[in-house]
Amino acid sequence: MLDILHRVTREVNAAPGLREALRIIVDRVADTMSVDVCSVYLRDTKQGDFVLMHTRGLHQEAVGQVRLTTSEGLVGLVAEREEPINLENAPAHSRFLYFPETGEERYSSFLGVPVIHYRSVLGVLVVQQSDQRRFEENEVAFLVTLAAQLAGAIAHARASGGIDGFDSLGASSDAAAGRVLRGLPGAPGVAIGTAVVSYTQADLNAIPDRCPLDIDLELESFQAAVGQVKRELKELSERIADSVTPDEQMLFDVYLRILEGDSLVRETIERIRAGNWAPGALRQVILEHVKVFEDMEDPYLSERASDIRDLGRRILSRLRDEGEQVRQVPDHSVLVGHEVSASQLAEIPQENLVAVVSATGSRNSHVAILARALGIPAVMGVDDLRVRQLEGCKTVVDGYSGRFYVDPSTTIEQEYQRLLDDEAEFTQGLEAVKEKPSVSPDGRHISLYANTGLISDINLSIAAGCEGIGLHRTEFPFLIRDRFPGEEDQVRLYRQVLEQFSPRPVVLRTLDVGGDKSLPYFPIHEENPFLGWRGIRLTLDHPEIFLTQLRAMLRADVGLNNLQILLPMVSRLEEIGDVRELLARAKEELAEDGIEARTPPLGVMIEVPATIYQIDRYCDQADFLSLGSNDLTQYLLAVDRNNSRVANLYDELHPAVLAAVREVVWAARRHGKRLTVCGGMAGDPAGAILLMGLGVQGLSMSVSSLLRIKWVVRRVPVSRAAELVNRAIEMDSPEEVRRMLRRTLEEYELGGLIRAGK
Ligand code: PEP
Ligand code: MG
Repeated sequence: MLDILHRVTREVNAAPGLREALRIIVDRVADTMSVDVCSVYLRDTKQGDFVLMHTRGLHQEAVGQVRLTTSEGLVGLVAEREEPINLENAPAHSRFLYFPETGEERYSSFLGVPVIHYRSVLGVLVVQQSDQRRFEENEVAFLVTLAAQLAGAIAHARASGGIDGFDSLGASSDAAAGRVLRGLPGAPGVAIGTAVVSYTQADLNAIPDRCPLDIDLELESFQAAVGQVKRELKELSERIADSVTPDEQMLFDVYLRILEGDSLVRETIERIRAGNWAPGALRQVILEHVKVFEDMEDPYLSERASDIRDLGRRILSRLRDEGEQVRQVPDHSVLVGHEVSASQLAEIPQENLVAVVSATGSRNSHVAILARALGIPAVMGVDDLRVRQLEGCKTVVDGYSGRFYVDPSTTIEQEYQRLLDDEAEFTQGLEAVKEKPSVSPDGRHISLYANTGLISDINLSIAAGCEGIGLHRTEFPFLIRDRFPGEEDQVRLYRQVLEQFSPRPVVLRTLDVGGDKSLPYFPIHEENPFLGWRGIRLTLDHPEIFLTQLRAMLRADVGLNNLQILLPMVSRLEEIGDVRELLARAKEELAEDGIEARTPPLGVMIEVPATIYQIDRYCDQADFLSLGSNDLTQYLLAVDRNNSRVANLYDELHPAVLAAVREVVWAARRHGKRLTVCGGMAGDPAGAILLMGLGVQGLSMSVSSLLRIKWVVRRVPVSRAAELVNRAIEMDSPEEVRRMLRRTLEEYELGGLIRAGK
């Protein structure tokens, strides 16, 4: 059973459009359950009723014609109750509605199950039979499981619209309105641009089709890649010969035979000649061959599908080596991908990049943070993104609402162009506060710092008039290289930051990789990476990497004296002591080389809830604290900051998070320790008001938020903010808190700022 479920889901996922996906579902269900009829009804999102989309067993003329509301017929009843309905004698049921064009009076038994995607009923899957019988429990369970597994695939197929979607069957859909896909706001702003698909080597499925500039060149690089892979396979086979049995060694011969055989290489060449670039042509051929093998009943043969896929990836990676190193992209590119990583984003020349859209992740993913740092909008967690088909499409990205339009209508495009013009005007308005102090109307000074990671951030933050750098994420240069940067390289990078800001303070955070930031050259595979080998845990386990970084930081600070060092992901007090020892060692080593370095202040990120329960001890041991609301929220609420399925549960304004922040603020005050908040909460106008009210005196945020927050500080008295925070902590839900803050911002005529918030 599990086998069948997997096979059907796989086939549906690979289907080129909705019509084909529905045909596969209907055929497989009818065959597996041996029923006379199997039909799929889908909800017409505009009109709300259910339309017969595909059937085996009912008359074909009924397709696209039969429509029922949720108060009509048995299909409507399944949708209304959101549960299966299993009847022995359907025509006798009070809700049975007869449509003469279907010919369904012949069928007695009826089993209908809802297809539900994220709490909303997408459609109904129905099986019918002429014998009078109740379907058995295992049959119901099969259909329910299948419907649950297929919900995502149907949503996908439907969202791909245009090509073969709902419209072509005589019903309307979101797609008609310019194919709007919904995701989560990742970084504020709007952009209009051309989609450029990003994919990883491992992800064959994501490679787009493209017209090659020069077909002969494509053919040449494909042949070269195949030749290279053949040579590698021969070498591998020889190298491994002593360690494996001849049977196991045969695997390499199988690979070689596939490559030397006629079909795979010849078919790819044909596709290139027909006008696709080599990676696209290769993807088409590999996936077709994979499907043939996957469909085979014999488990040995069906496993061969993975060999073909592996071979495809090998050739692809050689093709990439052959290809350009720096990707050429059009002006106004919108980077689109299944799982866009920070390094993929960094690969695109920034002057050409206007937005990012990712099928996975949420506003707290590092790629979204990077987008905010670059001041470009991002939409994350767009479940229904059919990445491959988007290359070259015109798109509109709305980072405020999380909407992503593909081939937008002229009206939508004009509307967004107007918004872009308004934004430019609004940003000019913000310029007015640039030179003004960050002081509240009741005279409290709130220090505003920048979160940086790229050198381009630095100039922008200086221009925005911040008081220093509250968080410099040193991992970005590590992420975009192909090996650990050496000491000299790091000294140069850190010196640039420290120098440009001197005498203002600069907080350099030590390497925080792991979690969702994996280094391409240091892969870590973990079941739960956010609870795993991350931040300080990893660097303390690798003193050779850590000492290099510490030495580079100390060297960069010589003569400037504005460095402060911050430790990420601290969860045990002794980690601070361990770092102090390494720091002392780094200083000694430098002294041996004649470099007199200073011991900089050492701070701890408060982002693991355990630190709050030992906060007095942390205050004793650290020179300053920096509260990371992104991770603190994720760990406190047990909501993965990258998981779009639970993104609606992630909110830094949750009263429990506010109460936790209050503990930290109080402790810092008791101990006279400096505390800055450097997570997304500090750059969110609503969050910033609450932090001011709690008594936080330092906020560090992405450069794009600096002027907005200064605007807020200058308008809202701290005394008023304190009243608001006291009320917020007593509230039941973050939604209530947000509503109250929204009203407050409107009251201070700051409504224009919250489009950027939630
Ligand atoms: C945080 O966790 O709030 C933080 C600032 O660090 P990062 O987002 O880099 O994990
Ligand atoms: Mg963090």
